[in-house]
Amino acid sequence: MKVCKICNENKPDNQFSLIQKKYLNSWCMSCNGKKYDIPAWQKANKEKQASYNKKHRQLRQITDYTAVYLIPEHNYVGVTNNLINRKSWHKTMGKDISGTKILHKFKSRAKALAKEAEYHAMGYAGANLHISSF
Ligand SMILES: [Zn+2]
Repeated sequence: MKVCKICNENKPDNQFSLIQKKYLNSWCMSCNGKKYDIPAWQKANKEKQASYNKKHRQLRQITDYTAVYLIPEHNYVGVTNNLINRKSWHKTMGKDISGTKILHKFKSRAKALAKEAEYHAMGYAGANLHISSF
């Protein structure tokens, strides 16, 4: 008989596997199976972590084009290399970003800014500060 270190039950020797054919394992066979199961909370945590990581990867992702985008609810036109990040910023600032869409994509940031200026000249709102790099 041997007391399992995990379930604390006194069990016959045949309930324990042998290590190196000599020593009885410290935990019984039924606990041995459980031991390698990932607990549900850890699984849930893992998924949460994965989605958090994905979101933050997207927030850092810079596109190889510069987008001129429109936020219809605010008649707002802006320029960005990371629309996901920019949208999340606008949301933080209290804007309704639903329906936000890309109007144009430019390889050159300067051309995108020129296009943005055209929209602003037409009366669209927008920050004319081109100091942010995202
Ligand atoms: Zn046990």
